[in-house]
Amino acid sequence: MTELTALSIADAHAGLTRREFTARELAEAYLSEMEAARGLNSYVLETPEHARAQAAEADVRLSRGEAGPLEGIPIGVKDLFCTDGVRTTACSRILGSFVPPYESTVTENLWKAGAVLLGKLNCDEFAMGSSNETSAFGPVINPWRRSGDETPLVPGGSSGGSAAAVAANLCAAATATDTGGSIRQPAALTGTVGIKPTYGRCSRWGIVAFASSLDQAGPIARDVRDAAVMLGAMAGFDPKDSTCVDAPVPDYAAAVGASVRGLRIGIPREYRVEGMPAEVEALWERGKAWLVDAGCELVDISLPHTRTALPAYYIVAPAEASSNLARYDGVRYGLRVGADDIVGLYEKTRAAGFGAEVRRRILIGTYVLSAGYYDAYYSRAQKVRTLIKRDFDQVFDGVVDAVLTPTTPSPAFPVGSKANASPVEMYLQDVFTVTVNMAGLPGISVPAGLSGDGLPLGLQLIGRPFDETTLFSLAGAVEKAAGRFTPKAWWR
Ligand code: GLN
Repeated sequence: MTELTALSIADAHAGLTRREFTARELAEAYLSEMEAARGLNSYVLETPEHARAQAAEADVRLSRGEAGPLEGIPIGVKDLFCTDGVRTTACSRILGSFVPPYESTVTENLWKAGAVLLGKLNCDEFAMGSSNETSAFGPVINPWRRSGDETPLVPGGSSGGSAAAVAANLCAAATATDTGGSIRQPAALTGTVGIKPTYGRCSRWGIVAFASSLDQAGPIARDVRDAAVMLGAMAGFDPKDSTCVDAPVPDYAAAVGASVRGLRIGIPREYRVEGMPAEVEALWERGKAWLVDAGCELVDISLPHTRTALPAYYIVAPAEASSNLARYDGVRYGLRVGADDIVGLYEKTRAAGFGAEVRRRILIGTYVLSAGYYDAYYSRAQKVRTLIKRDFDQVFDGVVDAVLTPTTPSPAFPVGSKANASPVEMYLQDVFTVTVNMAGLPGISVPAGLSGDGLPLGLQLIGRPFDETTLFSLAGAVEKAAGRFTPKAWWR
């Protein structure tokens, strides 16, 4: 029955509606794959009973011909999304065994579309990281290995569990979040498709907050069409998130396969960073050629403030994080380490509950917001952010329809290789992705080829605000030219 887990959402949906197999059979197939793949550590909680119950309900609806767009499709949920009655930890010790009494809007939307919950997926602690190594549950192992080499590699982060589970067929698709690259970078490192929609496209309600002005939910999926179907179900207006836009959700899946003829694609000269491997450069060249073959026109552009994006991000994101994480005080929920007085309780709980990277962010964030430093750091970073946004506004105003860049400066790296080095080395993983969050734009990563060592590499397409549709069409064209990439199942 394992071949059921290799089906795309589109094919599984067709099989389910034709009653070639049941939602229950599909769920069981995934559950047994998950059991065989526990060594990858992609799930931090498996919810087989939940999955069976939801699948049974999906089967009833399927037999009545009432199937939703994701009816009976088994998915994984990043452990940053609150799930009613199902433990949610943000992969931090500080949340302990917190069980939310409510559901995030994005997951609620997915259940309404008929999806089935297989379990909660590993991620970096509070989504802070680029390798899934800051998780309190330990690192996730990338299903991809270099050819002829068994060194365990990271799947990227922070949505590393989501990306690994999708690549290894341990769920049909997964939810993820992206504050500086956490959907697109792990998608690139695992040969999967990941889209961070425009800020405001998906509700943030019920998602554990990291940096509220940058956080956005999106899917990681096996192909572009699946990503489109997932985003269509996840997105939508929600009065519970005041930053969520009240605009209709287009039919994203219909955009996949649409012609991209005549679209103008910007190639930003600032994305050619020093030390970028020749194979990443070559991949970018191939991507340009594919889009030209599909009828696009390339335009050299300049986004002059690109190099300020990462430093400004590492002021804005920690500032917001330090404020968001103030709520974990050992009083209301999660971990509590007792002490004689209330200040001692805060100190002991927070010292025991937060990992090293999260503590670093809280310290930086508190510093840049403090009296006397606020103007020098936080307020300046916000001005820089405006300039980054303006760079994009200028090119999207009549010059280009989308921008093409590599997603990451390198393929997957060995577990421990960067986490044990300077934090800046890890932060540099996001040089091509953070600009998009700073400007609030949509960005998609699509697998585009393999490195010399046989590891997947991704290309990123950046679009105008709320123009995910064009990104799906362009990503579809890249996917058609590049093909799809699947790892060998060595973990079974
Ligand atoms: N790697 C970046 C960070 O650590 C981005 C993480 C994210 O997008 N959640 O902050």
